Amino acid sequence: MTARKVIRMGHPTLRLVAELVDVSELKTPEFIELLVDMYDTMKVEGGIGIAAPQINVSKQVTLIELPDDSDRYGELDGTPLMVIINPKITYLTEDKQGFWEGCLSVPGLRGFVERPNHIQVDYINEHGEPKQIIADEFLATVFQHELDHLFGKLYIDRITDTTKITYTEEFSEFIKAKPKDTLDE
Ligand code: ZN
Repeated sequence: MTARKVIRMGHPTLRLVAELVDVSELKTPEFIELLVDMYDTMKVEGGIGIAAPQINVSKQVTLIELPDDSDRYGELDGTPLMVIINPKITYLTEDKQGFWEGCLSVPGLRGFVERPNHIQVDYINEHGEPKQIIADEFLATVFQHELDHLFGKLYIDRITDTTKITYTEEFSEFIKAKPKDTLDE
């Protein structure tokens, strides 16, 4: 297992629009290794998602896997590992919801971000098969945070109320948010 180094805010790769993946790449040893290393890195860092640019690979690839943790996610069951390549997002509502987001590339901070709560994502998986998912609520935010990484955006850019940016220790001490209102990816 090879966890790679996660690059942090300020690194220029995080601000690029990542390159589309050509389907001919999918079966190459390099691409398969990339997926394995992304997974290992996500697990080591304790994230529920990771995007290739976060390990300094500017390609449109992201992984999302919600553990089956009913204490944390309530009604929402865990998801199996999703490999999302070349995604396109469609917003199905203007209604927004807020979560306290954290990012592996912005360690030590948490911020409150409001995003649309009903989206559609079209993408291909690691086998090159076209997929579509409709995501609501928590999962909708998870997808939007992750897909932002493929387009040079960080959650920090989405914060409209900058009084709601905190260090993680102060978050634990002063903000009475429940674990289910937070995410790290
Ligand atoms: Zn992130």
